[in-house]
Amino acid sequence: MPVPSAYEPAGTGYVRRSANRFSVRRWSVRHARLLEHLYGIFAGALVRLHWLWRAIGYHRVEKPMIPVERAIKGFMFDCRMCGECLLTSTGMSCPMNCPKGMRNGPCGGVRADGNCEVEPDMPCVWAEAWTGSRKMVNGDLINDVQKPVDHSIRGTSAWLRATSEAAAARESRGHEGQ
Ligand code: SF4
Repeated sequence: MPVPSAYEPAGTGYVRRSANRFSVRRWSVRHARLLEHLYGIFAGALVRLHWLWRAIGYHRVEKPMIPVERAIKGFMFDCRMCGECLLTSTGMSCPMNCPKGMRNGPCGGVRADGNCEVEPDMPCVWAEAWTGSRKMVNGDLINDVQKPVDHSIRGTSAWLRATSEAAAARESRGHEGQ
């Protein structure tokens, strides 16, 4: 049974769910270092293909990209397709699974067993984020302050957004070097 917190929000309680429900999510956190490495390779390849995405049109590429991204990240991280991915800053634990929508660390209600105050059978996504970040090369990114969620980009491809932003940054560095 979960450890009760001092404050129990109205209408919440222990929900019996399959223990497997969080197993893939937790596996991703345990293997955050490996996933950080693989994502680095994948993101680098996407940026190298920027010329192709630009020639086709990012908006056209996004159409087939979204279901692929949703399927892969949904399976591995319970991704909610917020449009601006923080996984590499949060130990491969998706912060959008926090029922309070905390984007910059845990609330004050984490239970003594490390589970969520609102969903007592769920590990706190921020406790998990800290665990995962300690395994990562760039794990200290967890200390960066994140912007509020931009709901206008919900459902879009975070992969393509990160790619176009990285390509734009690379191009502007190139211009500065001229
Ligand atoms: S895109 Fe947003 S919702 Fe999806 S895994 Fe990344 S942070 Fe979570």
